[in-house]
Amino acid sequence: MSLVVYNTLSREKEPFVPLQPEHVRLYVCGPTVYDYVHIGNARPVVAFDVLYRLLKRRYPRVTYVRNITDIDDKIMTRAAENGETIDALTNRTAQAYQSDMGRLGALPPDVEPRATAYVGRMVALIERLINRGHAYAADGHVLFSVPSMPDYGRLSRKPRDELIAGARVEVAPYKKDPADFVLWKPSTEAQAGWPSPWGRGRPGWHIECSAMSAAHLGETFDIHAGGLDLIFPHHENEIAQSRSAFGHAIMAKYWMHNGFLNISGEKMSKSLGNFFTVHELLDQYPGEAIRLLLLSAHYRQPLDFTHEGLQAAKATLDRWYGHLRGKTVGDVSVPPTVEEALSDDLNTPQAIAAIHQLDDPAELRAGARAIGLLQHDPEAWFRWAPAGTSGPSDAEIEAAIAARQAARKAKDFKESDRIRDALKAQGVLLEDGPKGTSWKRG
Ligand code: AMP
Ligand code: ZN
Repeated sequence: MSLVVYNTLSREKEPFVPLQPEHVRLYVCGPTVYDYVHIGNARPVVAFDVLYRLLKRRYPRVTYVRNITDIDDKIMTRAAENGETIDALTNRTAQAYQSDMGRLGALPPDVEPRATAYVGRMVALIERLINRGHAYAADGHVLFSVPSMPDYGRLSRKPRDELIAGARVEVAPYKKDPADFVLWKPSTEAQAGWPSPWGRGRPGWHIECSAMSAAHLGETFDIHAGGLDLIFPHHENEIAQSRSAFGHAIMAKYWMHNGFLNISGEKMSKSLGNFFTVHELLDQYPGEAIRLLLLSAHYRQPLDFTHEGLQAAKATLDRWYGHLRGKTVGDVSVPPTVEEALSDDLNTPQAIAAIHQLDDPAELRAGARAIGLLQHDPEAWFRWAPAGTSGPSDAEIEAAIAARQAARKAKDFKESDRIRDALKAQGVLLEDGPKGTSWKRG
């Protein structure tokens, strides 16, 4: 089944043909770590995790790089507000991010580079751009010269006046052209900084990804992905830097972008304040329910976030796990209906519809696992409870079930019924089957 992906560069679906037949190279822009990420930030992680899983099924070697941006003015501001060091803040939030993404069933990438470890490479890349006539130093800054690249703007397809309007946010006297963008900027004594040929300073955001992708994937690679808002300026500028520094016609062959997660029709974002962090949602819903919601729309379409949507996703998973419960389920390959849907530009809604049609528990599990669902033991799934739930612990429930078993054995049915009813009053439902008694919180 050949894979077809929508390439933002061509605005078309294209057959996926890797640059090297045996080794696929994928880069996804990761978060800026100054706080917990919101569930919109998790959308690219989950969508491109489905892609990573698919590529791993088909190619002998896949290298997936997802960076962590740990240099940023927001980080410096937040660390100062919290009265902690930048390192303490970024270590803590990067760890929370990795743990939360793991709970959404996202596989860890092969490499998760942190920008601060690559400043030397960024400086070298900037020097290369200067030497090749694509960048210039001015006033402690280094700027990329947009007019030095005749086909700048190919990814976003923005006309020049819009490019300038976009760049106008930082009109500065040291810019030769209003569209030029920052590769390096000076730091004050109080700000984080690194030594450089242009004085103590710090890198701009875009150069980070050019340096980290080149370090781990090479000067050109297969797929570069992220959210729609990264097309311009971030990805446009990454392309300008990498192509101008290395002299290739492409940086990445395929550019993939996910649509926004919205809330009441508006993009979820930190700045609008209309967000839920993944961390807080994981107290209320199992990770797989959040993941299923994120995959319920095609990754390029907008997706509206609601609590009802999460509850419906949890109910679907309860049903699917119910089919697996008490059964010995063998490993089988991904059912063709699911694989076919995913091969068509990661059509997860169609894959989910196909999973609904799978009656055989082994096929159901294999189909769901292709999109990172049904990863848990069904009994563990049904033991899940939201944070702060009162009521008996797992051990207390198991003990009550054992006591009920003993009462039944002694034919004391009054006592065994009393135990069952007492559990029910505490929100624990028992189900007697051929393999003994199972239970769930509900
Ligand atoms: P940021 O930390 O803002 O750079 O975002 C990290 C990733 O999340 C980027 O790939 C963004 O494009 C993506 N992203 C941010 N907000 C949303 C949203 N509301 N819906 C989908 N993706 C988003
Ligand atoms: Zn990036």
